Formats: sequence, structure tokens, C-alpha cells
Amino acid sequence: MTTSADAFLALDFGGTKLSAAVTCRGEQTWRGLERAFSKPGATANDDITTMLGLARKVLSGVRPVAIGVSFGGPVEPKSGTVRLSDHVPGWENQPLADALTDEFGVPARVDNDANVAALGEYRFGAGQGCHSLLYLTVSTGVGGGWILNERVWHGAEGMAGEIGHTVVDPNGPPCFCGKRGCVERYASGPFIAQDAREELDANPARESSLRTVVELTAQHVSRAAAAGDAYACEVLERAGWALGIGIGNAVNLMNPQRVVLGGGVTKAGPIFWNAVRQTAAATARREITLDIVPAQLGDDAPLWGAVALAEEA
Ligand SMILES: [Zn+2]
Repeated sequence: MTTSADAFLALDFGGTKLSAAVTCRGEQTWRGLERAFSKPGATANDDITTMLGLARKVLSGVRPVAIGVSFGGPVEPKSGTVRLSDHVPGWENQPLADALTDEFGVPARVDNDANVAALGEYRFGAGQGCHSLLYLTVSTGVGGGWILNERVWHGAEGMAGEIGHTVVDPNGPPCFCGKRGCVERYASGPFIAQDAREELDANPARESSLRTVVELTAQHVSRAAAAGDAYACEVLERAGWALGIGIGNAVNLMNPQRVVLGGGVTKAGPIFWNAVRQTAAATARREITLDIVPAQLGDDAPLWGAVALAEEA
């Protein structure tokens, strides 16, 4: 293996998707990028094997100076040890950073995907120039990451940024975390779809184009809302309302310079964004300047954050 003095290897272990990319110091494009789906029934060792294959492919013989990793689950960031994965068995207490260092002979840093995506947006995307920001990803779940004083803030146990399970209505519907009325319970894609379906079933007189949709998703709700479906607008506004309260409470506590929103649900259009911004403004103190913007890096945010991690390694 030849060493490139400034090549960084970025790895992203998503729930079902694995990605590896290489870039060089100061560049904002990939020299190489490979993605693969996690095999059905895969274990941690299977995913590591697949990922090493992708990494060797993008490196094509070049040895990187450092490795950054985004992992879809709780991580002990100091040691780079994965605590567990909610999707793939066998990740419990896997020393992932050490394993990568053994494999490639260079330093490796690992952090959870929301923190790494926050770092990516901060360094290369919508958060550039900010000293502090709150990053939120709203898709199958609602995750969050803090940049405070230009660093990721992990919290005492690496659990900072769990805005998805802050409660907006203690008497609201039950969330899978055991509480009621969490932000995620209203604003995540699967719950938006579930609520839209259940309320239509419970109210046969309610008119909506969503009635005829067989496998209803949050995307159907967004599209119907954009086409003027009043019921779809209501469902989407409720999701935006919950997220807006979560954001308003978070900015009251921490007063970040900017809030960056990524994830599939945030592509829902102006009805959703207006609800988020209006509710956040109504929840935050008037003296706080709210700057809520869409993420810029899309699905590549964790990979770019991994580059930033590698730079720090
Ligand atoms: Zn919850």
C-alpha cells in the first residue's frame, strides 16, 4: 500500500446501508465512493467484512492518513467502541476504532451518526461559520447532534441531542420509548404515516385523497398536502408543530446560532416548514434569533462528518 499524505477514509455504517468514501485534505468532492446494502440477516462481522471490501475498493491501494466513522447507534466516542446497534446483532461492545487501526495502521475515530452528521454540516454544509448549532435529522426517527464552541457536545454519557424523545404532550399517544407525546411520536416518517392511516380509519366521513393509498407513507402525506389535501395538511402541520416545540425548547436552553434540519421528512415542503418555524418562534423566547435552515449535504452528511472526524484523529 502506498501512503497518500492527505487522503482521508470516511465510513458510514447506516441501519441497512454501508458507504465508504475517500477524499483529500481541502477537497470537497469524493475521489471514490462505494455503497452497499447490508446483507439480509447480517451480523456485525458480516457488515465489517462488507465495509472493508468497500474501503479497499475506494482506496485502490492508497493508505489513508486517518479514518473517520459514522455509526448508526450509540458509541463510546473516546475509545471508538460501539455500544450496540438497534438493527444488526453482534455490535455489542465492538472496539471498531481499534479494529480499523489494526487493519489499516492509521488512527480512527468513531461517533454516532447524528453527531457525525452535525459535524459534517458544521464543517462542510449549512452550519459553516457557526460556533454553535443544533442539527436534527427527521426520517424514520428523530435524531439530533450539538456543536457547541466548535466541538461536538456528547454529554456525560454520549446521549446528548436526543431531541426526538423530548416530550411535547405528556398526555399524547404512546411512543416506543415508553413515554407519551415525544417529538418523534408525531414527527418521524413512520408515525406520520401511521397517524394519517389510523385517523382516516376512525373517521369514515373525513375526505382525503390518502384514503385510496394502499401502503401509506409520510411521502404520500407530503405530496397530498402539496396538492391541497386539507387532511394531509393537518397531519403534516401536527408533525411540524411537535418538531417546532422541541426546537423552541432546545433553543431556550442552549441558544445555538443556527438549527439545521435534515432527513427525508424535511423535504415535505413549505406547509411543514412553516409549521416548524411558527411553532418554534412561539415556543422560544422573543429575544432569541431563530435561524432554522435545511441541511445542505443530504445523505452524504455522515460521510462528510466522518472526514471531519478523520481530520481530528
Ligand atoms: Zn419517545
